[in-house]
Amino acid sequence: MKRKPVHVAMYSGGASSAYVAYHMVQTYGRENSLLFFTNTLWEHEDNYRFMHEVADYLGMEITYRTDGRTPEQVFYDYKFMGNSRLAKCSEELKVRQTIIFLEELRDEHGLEPILYFGIGRHEQHRAENLKEFYAHRPLESVETRFPLISTFREEIDAKRIIEEDWGIKLPIMYELGFSHANCGGRCVRGGFQHYAQLYRTWPETYREQEEMEEQFREHFDKNVSILKRNGGPFTLREYRKELEQNGLQRYLSVEDDTVPCVCTL
Ligand code: SF4
Repeated sequence: MKRKPVHVAMYSGGASSAYVAYHMVQTYGRENSLLFFTNTLWEHEDNYRFMHEVADYLGMEITYRTDGRTPEQVFYDYKFMGNSRLAKCSEELKVRQTIIFLEELRDEHGLEPILYFGIGRHEQHRAENLKEFYAHRPLESVETRFPLISTFREEIDAKRIIEEDWGIKLPIMYELGFSHANCGGRCVRGGFQHYAQLYRTWPETYREQEEMEEQFREHFDKNVSILKRNGGPFTLREYRKELEQNGLQRYLSVEDDTVPCVCTL
């Protein structure tokens, strides 16, 4: 039997994904749409505030999936500290939960999911990667759509529309200049600039992350770290000392060459 389509916005707490969700709901109607969010339990509270205000504006509920572990717990389970090259937290807490959810939609509700991502033209390669990923998962392929690339001729200024037309304040992480707004500034995919930004904005959160790294190293007696320098480990403690010694400014101006995870969509 042919499954009924359901339009699923991959709702991440960012402005683009919020705008894409709006466009999707306008086009297909609330009754055929879902806002889907996977919770890592590390998100900044203002991201949750933003997501709920947008959902209210759209007249929708958010469909949550929560693994129940934090990224830190995933690192312990795998005995592997996430870093800018490999982050099991993303796979376990986001990707896996999404795949389980898509299977549920098909098997338990007889629905055929179509996924919507807030990816713009300047990130075309990420759209290609996602398309390719969902072409093989779960068992049957899932259709992916990128309205900011395929539907709109002109660049959409989602941030302006959300603030000025919808009257919703953007997540504070934007204002503070974080390149990775997910996981409350603690993303292990963030690089040197990102962690300098974290130290400047929320030094206590940086210290917590530093502490997490130190405990992990001690617990497993392994010389591992979130950041890497010259191909080897470089701890957040070492980096903080360097920041304190040399001043933050020079580290804030060098862009990170890190690969954003699916969490940043
Ligand atoms: S945003 Fe970063 S820390 Fe959070 S789950 Fe994704 S990769 Fe892990």
